[in-house]
Amino acid sequence: MYQLKICHLYPDILNLYGDRGNIICMQKRMAWRGIQAEVTEVSVGDPLNYDDYDIFFIGGGQDFEQEVLLKDLADGKAKAITQAVNEEKVFLAICGGYQMLGNYYKTWDGKECEFVGALDLYTVGAKERMIGNYMYQCDAADDGIVVVGFENHSGKTYLSDKVRPMGKVLAGSGNNGEDGTEGARYKNVFATYSHGPLLPKNPKLADLILKTALKRRYPDIVLEELDDTFENNAHDYMVQRLSAK
Ligand code: GLN
Repeated sequence: MYQLKICHLYPDILNLYGDRGNIICMQKRMAWRGIQAEVTEVSVGDPLNYDDYDIFFIGGGQDFEQEVLLKDLADGKAKAITQAVNEEKVFLAICGGYQMLGNYYKTWDGKECEFVGALDLYTVGAKERMIGNYMYQCDAADDGIVVVGFENHSGKTYLSDKVRPMGKVLAGSGNNGEDGTEGARYKNVFATYSHGPLLPKNPKLADLILKTALKRRYPDIVLEELDDTFENNAHDYMVQRLSAK
């Protein structure tokens, strides 16, 4: 039987807007295909044996919660996470979790957070928050998928040329409200500002992430199609709403 192992990093600290629902979605989409998924929660003080896992999930968090993690990152997790990224493990990181994979975050009130440094990007807080439903399009390498989501962040993220954006903003702010980019893609990392039901609303993205992880373990696996009528209806309705703006 096919099986994947998911590591949920800092589930008790980084979990805004029910971001953890994305794990339930991954588990369901695998179970419907007879694939087993085991989820392990790893938080402050727990060891991170990164090689035990196929997919890492990191949700969003407020500035304060991100600051709480700094010591734990410096005590070893930053190194383990960087190794996992470099060895092409699959990551899905949301908002504060996305920022955390970068080099640093300078909050709007002047605090400096030294982050993981696995992705060459940084974030600077702005007084005005970027909030609302938004939409972006992934590039051809990621099948040009149009992603609908909800963003709420003060941080403006800037990518170096070593990291490509996850997509091009079609509506809303994205990474910084300035350069038209959203999220980050590096090796097998998918990082985005989209909170809440990202994967339930974007089944194509969900399957792209699952396929990426499954192929590493089972190169010949074929992911059978699911009936995504409801999911696609929800997705297409938001595309329509956001296009009309
Ligand atoms: N604290 C970060 C910001 O405001 C992340 C917020 C979040 O995860 N929603 O930019």
